[in-house]
Parts: sequence; C-alpha cells; structure tokens
Amino acid sequence: MSTRTDEGLPPGAPAPGRPAPDQAPTPARDLTPAQARLRGQLAVGARSLSLGGHDDFNQGQVSARLPGSRTFQIKGALTGFDECRPEDVVPANVDPDAPPHRLAPPELALHQAVYAARPDVNAVVHSHAPHTLVFGATDLTVRPVSHDGAYFEERLPRFTLTSNTILDIATGRAVADALGSAPALLLRNHGGLVVGKSLKHAVVLAHLLERACRLQLMAEAVPGGYHSSSAADVEAKREFIYGDLAVRSYWEHSVRSVLRTWPEAVAW
Ligand SMILES: [Zn+2]
Repeated sequence: MSTRTDEGLPPGAPAPGRPAPDQAPTPARDLTPAQARLRGQLAVGARSLSLGGHDDFNQGQVSARLPGSRTFQIKGALTGFDECRPEDVVPANVDPDAPPHRLAPPELALHQAVYAARPDVNAVVHSHAPHTLVFGATDLTVRPVSHDGAYFEERLPRFTLTSNTILDIATGRAVADALGSAPALLLRNHGGLVVGKSLKHAVVLAHLLERACRLQLMAEAVPGGYHSSSAADVEAKREFIYGDLAVRSYWEHSVRSVLRTWPEAVAW
C-alpha cells in the first residue's frame, strides 16, 4: 500500500499502477444486513470512545469485521470519534495490496496487520488517549491497582521500535508481533492499541485500558506506595468482572451514554 505522510489526512490518490478506489461512502443498500448493523455499531463505538476521552482531533481509529472475513470496516480518515456517523465508516481489506478506499485512514496498515496475525480478533481500537499515552511513555509495568489493571496485568506489551504513525505494513506487522496474543499494547509516545473478539469487547477494553493507566498513574504519585490485588483476586476479577456477560452489560451502558448525548444514534 502507499505510504502516507500525515496521520490527519487521507491518501490523495491510489498508488501508481493500481485501480482507483471507491470515491464515495458505501450506500447502506450495498451492505448486507450484518455489515450494516456492524457499521452502525462502529459509529456508536466511536462516539463511546469520544465520551471516554479518546479524542485527538480526527486521529485514532476503530475497526471491526464479521468473524472469518477478509474484509473489515473502519472509521474514515477525516472523521473524529466524536462526530462519526455510519456513513463515515469505510470498507477495507485485510490484504495490504488491495487498493485502499480514498478515505481509509493512514494507519490502515496497523489494522490490516493485526487482523492478518490474529484470527481471533474481530475489532481493533487505536487511539491517543492521554493516560494510556503517558503510561506508555514510562517504564511502569501495569499493576492490579484497580479492577481494570487486573485485566491487563502481565499482558500489556510495549511497542518501542518507533513512536511515529504506523504508515506501512512492515511497521504494522512489527506492532502485531509485539502484541502477540495480548489484548492490548502500548505504543510508546504514541498511544494504545486494543483488540477484541467483538466490537463490544474492543471498545469496552479500550475504556478499561485508559482507566487502568489513569488510576495507576494516580497511585504512583502518592508518596509511600500502594497495594495491589492478589493473584487470586486478579483471576477472579477476570472471570467475573470481565466475563462475556459483564462486557455485554458494559457495552449496553456505553450505548445508553451515547444515546443520551446523541439521541440520533438510536437510528444507527
Ligand atoms: Zn496513531
């Protein structure tokens, strides 16, 4: 795929020798009912991330695919989490040689590499959420200070090869290698990457990661140190507090928050 030079701008043209990509948003009528439903959920997920403090102008992305699919859908380059509508979501292919949509975000390669490496992953969130970013800039290891921290203990690697925008598939694959089988990764001096088996999981886990980092940074600033949960408690919390049923209820709460802020999202 082509290399792009600015995270906030879409590619202006297809790479030489490649056919021109779609120029317009995909009409809902061209989507299967399942794809249309996922596109609406992506817009709701983006708004939820905005409410959780993940905004950085139009930067950052949320994407999702139907399980087993070689294609996925991703928030367009020009749209912020706080303003994303279903029609701002664009189609994409896991294959990095496929011509990208005109409005595909510059960090498309990050998502392509993760989907290629992780058949278990059906949704990806990348954001520059402030506490996640600051935590990633430190050498701190995530600790079970809070329930959220318990979820990520010993499964939150850091990517340190570059702090720049992920613009090419080689760098995307290096990030996917660093992620391994983990649910999330810190991009040093850049932000966070969170994956999930569903869009609901990825969005909820992105909220958890930001909160885990925020609360630990608060605890680290307290003179005299702090306590953290036992290994037995960590295991119990992961099973009960972050089991599938609980994650679903957190997603439903997130949807209600979005609807209170943007009532029009009820139609998505
Ligand atoms: Zn980024």
